[in-house]
Amino acid sequence: MSLLSKLHMVNGFIMTKYFNRVPFYATYNVTFRCNSRCVYCDYWKSDPPELNTENALRVIDRMAESGISMLAISGGEPLLRNDLVPLLKRARDSGVVTTLNTSGLIIKEQLAFELAKYVDALTISIDGPPEIHDKQRGISGAFERSLRALALYKSAGIKVGINMVLTDLNRDLVLETYNLLESHIDFMTVQPVNPPLKNSISEKTVDDLYSIKDKGKLFLPEQYIEKMKEYFDGSFAKICDALKLYYAVDPLGNVTACAPRHDIIVGNLLQDSYRQIVSSISKTSMEKIENCSGCYLVCTVGVNMQIKQPILSSATQGIRTYF
Ligand code: SF4
Ligand code: SF4
Repeated sequence: MSLLSKLHMVNGFIMTKYFNRVPFYATYNVTFRCNSRCVYCDYWKSDPPELNTENALRVIDRMAESGISMLAISGGEPLLRNDLVPLLKRARDSGVVTTLNTSGLIIKEQLAFELAKYVDALTISIDGPPEIHDKQRGISGAFERSLRALALYKSAGIKVGINMVLTDLNRDLVLETYNLLESHIDFMTVQPVNPPLKNSISEKTVDDLYSIKDKGKLFLPEQYIEKMKEYFDGSFAKICDALKLYYAVDPLGNVTACAPRHDIIVGNLLQDSYRQIVSSISKTSMEKIENCSGCYLVCTVGVNMQIKQPILSSATQGIRTYF
């Protein structure tokens, strides 16, 4: 990992927190194709178009120019593209901290070592012990493959973690899942499925999260755990920093309000810079964002809470996770 990336992230925390320089974070969904069959997602049911390498590189240049400190490459399954290494290299060369989300179903040793040169942290989606994970992801043997992927990326020198999507099927298995995988991971995040299911959080979920937090590998602000029940009780005051603190980009280079609301398209990075796009957002798009019923994801509410933590806590947690 480059010293430049480390400095860039700490600088990003400081500039965002104290000087209100935004955006801090962006997600680039490089493809919506996916080889998982998750029960709570429709992406895998279609084969939408995406940019070629040349244009995807232009998009990454424009994202870096927008001032972000962190870029998450996500999907779909990003590893279904065969140009991830040059894309991540371009982001890293511009000093942006890079993260990669994958289901871990694609296991290629040489690729893992290539990615290790340009990825600061890699997250594999694991939703519980084997039978639960396989059921929720719709792939028999998925857990075992994801576990092999964790080991491979770790041996390649990448910081690896898991993200657990909480549903009514696995909400009481957070601690069990952590205990099962603790020795394989550097960090863990969890988030309720989106759109949320009423029963995807319980008292036990929250207690388990506090207990994992005490062990030091849960990369979630304490407030995120504290407020989770409020979100499901309906008493949580909506937190939305779409197009301010963060934004997302879809496989065609469209800038969207955030990762979950990829239906709110406000411009395209092949045509305009991010600044041009946000300075001319239509009234209709603004209303859609204002009227959005809310979310509770790590890449939205979690980022807000992370930034609001005391700076030492934010920076230390980030550096511990990514470096
Ligand atoms: S891995 Fe992600 S994109 Fe793929 S089907 Fe599951 S939730 Fe959808
Ligand atoms: S509240 Fe809606 S628009 Fe705002 S970040 Fe969440 S999903 Fe996106």
